[in-house]
Amino acid sequence: MARDPRYDILFTPIKIGPKIAKNRFYQVPHCNAMGYGEHHGDVAHRRMKAEGGWAVICTEQCSIHPSSCAAPYGERRLWNDEYAEQLRGWVDTMHEYGALAAVELVHNGLGFSNRKTKEFPLGPSPNMVHYNWDPIMGREMDKADIREFRRWQVEAAKRAVNVGYDIVYIYAGHDIALPQHFLSPHTNHRTDEYGGSVENRARLIGELLEDTKEAVGDRAAVALRFAVDENRGEHGITWQEEGQAVVEMFSDLPDLWDVNISDWAYDSATSRFTDEAYQEPYVAFVKQKTNRPVVTVGRYTSPDTMISQINRGITDFIGAARPSIADPFLPKKIEEGRNDDIRECIGCNMCVASENTGSLFRCTQNPTAGEEWRRGWHPETIEAKGSDNGVLIVGAGPAGLECARALGQRGYTVHLVEAGPEIGGRVIRESALPGLAAWGRVRDYRVGQIAKMKNVEVNTGSHLSAQDVLDYGAETVVIATGSSWRSDGAAYTNTHPIPGSDGKRVFTPDDVMDGAAFEGPIVVFDDDHYYMGGVIAEKLRAAGHEVTIVTPLMELSRWSEYTLEMEKIMSQVLSMGIELITDHNIAHIGDNSIEIYNVYHEETRQHLSYQSLVLATSRLPNDALYRELAAAPEKLEKAGITTLARVGDCVAAGTIQHAVYEGHRFARELDAGAVADVPYKLEYVRLESAVA
Ligand code: ADP
Ligand code: SF4
Repeated sequence: MARDPRYDILFTPIKIGPKIAKNRFYQVPHCNAMGYGEHHGDVAHRRMKAEGGWAVICTEQCSIHPSSCAAPYGERRLWNDEYAEQLRGWVDTMHEYGALAAVELVHNGLGFSNRKTKEFPLGPSPNMVHYNWDPIMGREMDKADIREFRRWQVEAAKRAVNVGYDIVYIYAGHDIALPQHFLSPHTNHRTDEYGGSVENRARLIGELLEDTKEAVGDRAAVALRFAVDENRGEHGITWQEEGQAVVEMFSDLPDLWDVNISDWAYDSATSRFTDEAYQEPYVAFVKQKTNRPVVTVGRYTSPDTMISQINRGITDFIGAARPSIADPFLPKKIEEGRNDDIRECIGCNMCVASENTGSLFRCTQNPTAGEEWRRGWHPETIEAKGSDNGVLIVGAGPAGLECARALGQRGYTVHLVEAGPEIGGRVIRESALPGLAAWGRVRDYRVGQIAKMKNVEVNTGSHLSAQDVLDYGAETVVIATGSSWRSDGAAYTNTHPIPGSDGKRVFTPDDVMDGAAFEGPIVVFDDDHYYMGGVIAEKLRAAGHEVTIVTPLMELSRWSEYTLEMEKIMSQVLSMGIELITDHNIAHIGDNSIEIYNVYHEETRQHLSYQSLVLATSRLPNDALYRELAAAPEKLEKAGITTLARVGDCVAAGTIQHAVYEGHRFARELDAGAVADVPYKLEYVRLESAVA
């Protein structure tokens, strides 16, 4: 299909200093939890984007010196020539596909406490480090320290250029970068020529720009990644003051402005709290004040938004981290007029949570993310089918849908049968909850893809019994019947049913999603700790009820800290007038009141009266169908069923990301031979001379 000419602008080359980017798609620096320790995984992950048409591919943050160590988070290093040599193959791989290779040099300053290197953190003034409440402060830098820091940046820039990087960064963003800590009145309390006025606080950025440009000459471009606003009001950097002043001061000095907002929770804001292009109000001024190309981000997934951003003079490049993770082939798809095939980021931040939890990289929409090297999974291609067996998939939630899509892509004849009137499973129900509409894209992408496959048939409104499955005639049967919220309140804190949970006015999130009528006052008990307790409370509050949340942890939606949402959720819930009782568990549910106690002081008991109680605790697999079938192997054999499997929440309830991944994995492994005990390649770090 031909591309709509309206999108041609996205494919016009543009100069970045001495280099030329072939189009406007720019994968900005983003971590993927791999770092130098999972080098092959990182290269393979970025390679997909180079293959998918991105003109510029950046590394994640790349530390320039041991006094900047982000451990336990996996990040790159450029401390010496050995680390640089490790990156040579990274650069060559991006070049193979015609992409420019960029490296984000970083000194984390007050960001981290240097847990592994045990060096003092460095800062403009004596401030506590920002991450993880580590009980140490940054050492106040004197002039000699500043000279040393400038030298480290120059040395690292030279190493980067020597192994072929096209773009070298100076990094002043996300509240984890020393130049930002110097610029911000929040952290810079100096009285010398590096403190006080904006000019003084920005001095270090100017020096780094001059130094780095001189060091790399015309061998590479120099980019400044700059947070124009810290969302701290007058106590921090604001785009109206420091933001504008810095861009005016250094206007054409960098070869590229990569601008965003701080901290990470604002820059990588989720769809629950922001829409596409949400950074525009902050960064729109930048292009007015420089002749250099500008890259901005804002979870851009719509080609129309992209061209609007460029045509209205907001940006030159479509910067992306998450949209490039969800769909590494986004540029190619637009280029080839295949906009319908874009796997749009849903803005859930499971990718961010991989970094924050030290997990292998994962993405809800793209189950191949992080698996490109170790499992050899490609986001767009898949092995052809391994047999002519027909496949019946029961249940069209995210697991069943992804399984059907991927098996359909492999060429199997697939029947996807769903009991409900629509396909999508939990995604349909949850995307109707406050703030979660974009999650519907998990369904939309797969429905769109399956609709194009003649070999995949979808039947809705058909609830299959075990006998129906036996009579169906498929050789391969996949059960993907999902899970249901349990009504007895068992979960993390209470592993047994809560006494009284069989009461008439006790409900589950499923009841709320089904539209049950509620009487207030309502108590929501959150022992799930991800998003459900909070969104259920918001929905009921928005319907006009008096709502109290009780949770045994110190915060609501504790796990959402990993997705950078917890603080926003707490503040949203409180601002809606929802009462929040933390650190409390339920001892007993009575007819009109529940007895709760402080988990740190069990003697403290109080009663809360309620009319409706919603237990957002945990789910149980809907595995009755699977168990009935699995218990009768002779019936399976008679029916000609050679493979019976289950995927997703009906195995063990987890996130939507888990369900998509498991559906995909089953599809990859079907008829592909025995699965080895260690079913993927392992990384072995070999930097002997660097660590000797
Ligand atoms: P997952 O996240 O594992 O994909 P979901 O709960 O989102 O799970 O989806 C499971 C889907 O399976 C639901 O849409 C449900 O209606 C459907 N389902 C459950 N039991 C049956 C059945 N016996 N026959 C057909 N569909 C079923
Ligand atoms: Fe987007 Fe979620 Fe994938 Fe991250 S995990 S790239 S936010 S879909």
